[in-house]
Amino acid sequence: MRRYLISGNWKMNTTRATGVELVKALAAGCEGDESVDVLVFPPAPYLIPILDAVKGTSIQVGAQNAYFEEPGAYTGEVGLEMLQDIGCETLLVGHSERRHVFGETDELLNRKVKVALDKGFRVVLCVGELLSERQDDRTNEVLDTQMAGGLKDVTAEQLGQVVIAYEPVWAIGTGHTASPEQADAAHANIRGWLATNYSTDAAEAMQILYGGSVKADNAAELLGQPNVDGALVGGASLKASAFLPIIQAGIAATKG
Ligand code: PEP
Repeated sequence: MRRYLISGNWKMNTTRATGVELVKALAAGCEGDESVDVLVFPPAPYLIPILDAVKGTSIQVGAQNAYFEEPGAYTGEVGLEMLQDIGCETLLVGHSERRHVFGETDELLNRKVKVALDKGFRVVLCVGELLSERQDDRTNEVLDTQMAGGLKDVTAEQLGQVVIAYEPVWAIGTGHTASPEQADAAHANIRGWLATNYSTDAAEAMQILYGGSVKADNAAELLGQPNVDGALVGGASLKASAFLPIIQAGIAATKG
């Protein structure tokens, strides 16, 4: 059975103090029940204090972004070696804000995915359609293209280190959550793509998270869908009082 993964993308939010306080509250709230995995993506400058704060707890920490080149003349970028150096080996790739605000293409994202996997990182690859693409009935086509682009040349063995996050762009930060049926259908399509392009076993093993306005009051229904294995949460991951109930919904879904 696939484990649930409840993850929080803090984006460009928190201070060092509020981030540490948040992660400590999450660790305390999760103590005693590790039946779901919990992962946070703090801003880069706070990775070290957050990694320190989670030592000895079950909370996992990933980076929101990194550059794929070896150390050198790349002003402003954070290298994968630097993340490894501080003990951070999970990388978020392809978030809608990286694609649409920073113009990252499938080709560039694939370089990040490939180099990160080659270096031993776990990669959480985000895919998702725009509202106009859904309205044009192109959701599955867009997801297939982003899967093929992002995972180009990723081996079957490396795929075990990949998590997919389905995040419809129209649902991110908007309060408009995909319905449980819409989420499950998109996840089933992603699983189908993996079965066709890798294997049925690989498709069955893949953790596929849903992201897009997940909150305490819709988490249980979304996480109850057969193809939904967790959540990638933005706004509601910034307060322990909002995020812990989503983790609890994951624990309840695990226990059926
Ligand atoms: C996100 O940033 O990945 C996200 C899903 O944000 P929100 O939960 O705020 O919609």
